[in-house]
Amino acid sequence: MKKIAVMTSGGDSQGMSGAVRAVVRQTIASGCIAYAVYEGYEGLVQGGDLIKRMQWEDVRGWLSEGGTLIGTARCMAFMERAGRLTAANNMVEKGIDALIICGGDGSLTGADKFRSEWPSLIDELVTTGKRTAEEVKQFKHLNIVGLVGSIDNDLSGTDATIGCYSSLGRICQAIDYIDATALSHQRAFVIEVMGRHCGWLALMAGVSCGADFVFLPENPPSENWEEEMCSVISKHRKLGKRKTIVIVAEGAHDRQLTHISPDVVKDLLSNRLHLDTRVTTLGHVQRGGTACAYDRMLATLQGVEAVKAVLEATPETTSPVICIVENKIVRKNLMEAVKMTKDVAAQIAAKDFGAAMAGRDAEFAE
Ligand code: ATP
Repeated sequence: MKKIAVMTSGGDSQGMSGAVRAVVRQTIASGCIAYAVYEGYEGLVQGGDLIKRMQWEDVRGWLSEGGTLIGTARCMAFMERAGRLTAANNMVEKGIDALIICGGDGSLTGADKFRSEWPSLIDELVTTGKRTAEEVKQFKHLNIVGLVGSIDNDLSGTDATIGCYSSLGRICQAIDYIDATALSHQRAFVIEVMGRHCGWLALMAGVSCGADFVFLPENPPSENWEEEMCSVISKHRKLGKRKTIVIVAEGAHDRQLTHISPDVVKDLLSNRLHLDTRVTTLGHVQRGGTACAYDRMLATLQGVEAVKAVLEATPETTSPVICIVENKIVRKNLMEAVKMTKDVAAQIAAKDFGAAMAGRDAEFAE
């Protein structure tokens, strides 16, 4: 009977637990045996109790949970071949030769490296006497399938990552709270939101909350941004707006890109427009709390598709990542998606914004 393991890795996001639930239950429903690897690649390297057989009821109630109930970690040992050899040995011991990973581009890169090295790792287990040829006979290929769990919505090739809509909802809720006090005192608030090099959360929060101005890493302000922002905000005030909301994506004030930080914006609003201005950094509440309906749906549909991809894989199949494009769950080439994501990050760092936006929207198949 096929044994399929699921793991969450890298930064946490709402909906990861829902993805684990879907993989476990679809695996069991398909007549296979489900395992969960606890604490990301650390669990794969340490083995033992961190690779746990999962039953249907073990994931009961996980659909709405935030974060990941099987834990996540950054694991230095897995970056080295020696760590991956130990991980391979632990998988052979449990009889697992298919791994579904829910994480960001780093986790998916590690997974694909593990898959490509797998035959040589298996050979090494035999040549070093850790396993007999008989024991590894059925472990010639490793199937890897990626799911993208990230609040940043920064993976090329998919319209949404698991967690991004929960995080967006949380940001909007927080800005609604801030709105009430801003209105009362006619204040301005400069709000920093997460997203790393990707401005999706900031842009969508700006649209959803009717922000006055938004700073994005993909679209740094012009030379005369100070005049531009002040004139927009003055106009809004003259039209009767009692509050001002400016959103700064964390990636927009990366020192190498621009000198704009929430404090620089605050000083400008205070000194030039004489607005009573406060800075609010939303921080980790953006990753917390329960998963919204969209993320529960995405995690479930994609988790089911990931198990189907494992069961349909042949030794020739390249590793897929499960995406959503125009409301359809699709499989795409995992390494292509990771490469495009890394290219976009590099293009933003090099201030080649046109290429970065084209890369985010690029089409490619499984
Ligand atoms: P996030 O987008 O939230 O940062 P991520 O998956 O990109 O998530 P990383 O810290 O880059 O997070 O990667 C998570 C783990 O994946 C690492 O700690 C490491 O164990 C493994 N990993 C990442 N890159 C590689 C690699 N090139 N080779 C092997 N393992 C890797």
